[in-house]
Amino acid sequence: MLVRSDILTAADGEPVAVENPEGKGTALIICEHASRRLPARAGDLGLGAAALQSHIAWDPGALALARLLSKALGATLVYQRFSRLIYDCNRPPESIDAMPATSEIYRIPGNESLSTAERYARTAALYVPFHDRISQIIAERATRGQDTVVVTIHSFTPVYRGKARAVEVGILHDSDSRLADVMLARADEETAFLTLRNEPYGPADGVTHTLQLHALPQGLQNVMIEVRNDLIADETGLGVMAGFLTGLLQDCSAALQ
Ligand SMILES: [Zn+2]
Repeated sequence: MLVRSDILTAADGEPVAVENPEGKGTALIICEHASRRLPARAGDLGLGAAALQSHIAWDPGALALARLLSKALGATLVYQRFSRLIYDCNRPPESIDAMPATSEIYRIPGNESLSTAERYARTAALYVPFHDRISQIIAERATRGQDTVVVTIHSFTPVYRGKARAVEVGILHDSDSRLADVMLARADEETAFLTLRNEPYGPADGVTHTLQLHALPQGLQNVMIEVRNDLIADETGLGVMAGFLTGLLQDCSAALQ
């Protein structure tokens, strides 16, 4: 039987990071794909350097953007410190995408023949602490009377399987579209970015897992934001995008209070 310590060693550090824990803002910002770091024991999963640095390992720019939003909104930020290649925290343990054997055009040899014990150990080491921590934070906020708006921050690749994507910002939702509806209506009035509903993915692709776990059961306002990663590849782009999203989130969540 493998255990959590078979996946993460003391030198790897904790799987979950929390920044601005005392933030007074209503937004709770979550970044599941913040990092391309792999635990030391995972090696390179059989991947080359290009794959390990690409969007299959992480969401480039997402953590930097999430930090800017956390600062601007006075929001607590929670993120996963390890790559989605070892465990994708926006997927439940039973999903084949939680520990994918392929991603876009890449094979991931280190994920191809995982035993049940290995799957359990990865789930225990990375997924469980991440979502437990978010649950705990939301419960503590409720206890002290602080509202929570769940906001997950992601980025997507401009070219997927050789096809260019025109969408620049995706506003994604599951069955509760309250916040997304207001944000999309407001974004339509601006010309800043091509902002579309449930693009380049939607709930049918299984991407709303975090919202399903933490927002929907408690009726918390929520949204998943996907930004095309070429728009947040440098400081200038990050600043412009953070400004756009800060205004959108502030105005729209306030409108629903
Ligand atoms: Zn993502």
